[in-house]
Amino acid sequence: MRTFEYGAATAIDDAVARLADDENAMLLGGGTNLVDLMKLGVVGPTTLIDVTRLPLHDIDVAEDGSLRIGAGVTNSDLAVHPVVRQRYPVLSRAVLSGASGQLRNMATTGGNLFQRTRCVYFMDASKPCNKREPGSGCPARTGEHRNLAILGASQECVATHPSDMAVALSALDARVVVRGVDGERVLSIDDFYRLPGDEPERDNTVTRDEIVTAIEIPKPDDTAVSTYRKVRDRQSYAFAVASVAAVLDVEDGIVRGVSIALGGVAHKPWRARTAEQVLLGGAADEASFRRAMTQEMDAAEPLRDNAFKVPLVTNLVARTLVALTESGARA
Ligand SMILES: Cc1cc2nc3c(=O)[nH]c(=O)nc-3n(C[C@H](O)[C@H](O)[C@H](O)COP(=O)(O)OP(=O)(O)OC[C@H]3O[C@@H](n4cnc5c(N)ncnc54)[C@H](O)[C@@H]3O)c2cc1C
Ligand code: SF4
Repeated sequence: MRTFEYGAATAIDDAVARLADDENAMLLGGGTNLVDLMKLGVVGPTTLIDVTRLPLHDIDVAEDGSLRIGAGVTNSDLAVHPVVRQRYPVLSRAVLSGASGQLRNMATTGGNLFQRTRCVYFMDASKPCNKREPGSGCPARTGEHRNLAILGASQECVATHPSDMAVALSALDARVVVRGVDGERVLSIDDFYRLPGDEPERDNTVTRDEIVTAIEIPKPDDTAVSTYRKVRDRQSYAFAVASVAAVLDVEDGIVRGVSIALGGVAHKPWRARTAEQVLLGGAADEASFRRAMTQEMDAAEPLRDNAFKVPLVTNLVARTLVALTESGARA
């Protein structure tokens, strides 16, 4: 049995200082991912710093209309918040599509961002895995990879990021506020996450002594509509095989604004920027949506058992954009 120390941080700077002082310390949010990984022997912190008692439980609308979500807000509270439901249905739906009611009651916004991949080799400490043990190899490439990446992967790692919430945040151009020993910085969600390259052990770009304190989301356009759709093996309680978060603004049948983020296809939420560029200013119809996604999928490099994701994602996005067009069309 591995022992560890537990202590609750009394202030944000206290958590940062404790992290900086002890390289074997980790932050504890709801514990729904970290504790599982400790039980599996995937990670072995000697100290857990509980951050759930920090004053990071608020959701506030700023003067400029943007939303600030404290890192300690639970997934349940986030999903049902009236402003989130009304202005950012894509976020509410993404969060509600994840895990279960009990888990969402415990899971925090900060912890959700940092949840680790569900690659079966990563979660089995007896197997080689470059992400868990750099240089040990990537058995997923030739082994079990049906649910793994088709975009942006590397020879070293083909893992996917499992968070539904993060996919919605990507489509919404969210920013992540982090505090470290050198002060505060704000990262776009796109810069927060990273592709595996030759350092698959790093999921994101924050340093180990930094704590996420909040997420900020810009005010959405009043005329835009948004949604989240997730394809999974079971109707509930399952991670995404593929998912899409989409924000769309259509006027007179023309796409005035669009943002598309994909889940279950890459090491980070995948912003479909090629498709967005193709769509902007063009016709909002199914043929155009399919054409745009076909171009996006030109970059796909599927493995032996996950090539089905290419047409799956194309269909998923096209049908989602059709539904959004019908629900939010402006004449
Ligand atoms: C059975 C099951 C099914 C699930 N299904 C889904 C699903 O379908 N979709 C989905 O998206 N998720 C799913 N999840 C994952 C779940 O959403 C995450 O476990 C949860 O969001 C993690 O939040 P937490 O607060 O419990 O994090 P913890 O487990 O406490 O921490 C996770 C990581 O975040 C770090 N951390 C925590 N807070 C901070 C902070 N403020 N700053 C910096 N680092 C921090 C911790 O150090 C740790 O590394 C599932 C989980 C389980 C167990
Ligand atoms: S895909 Fe990544 S996480 Fe999975 S075995 Fe390979 S290196 Fe490990």
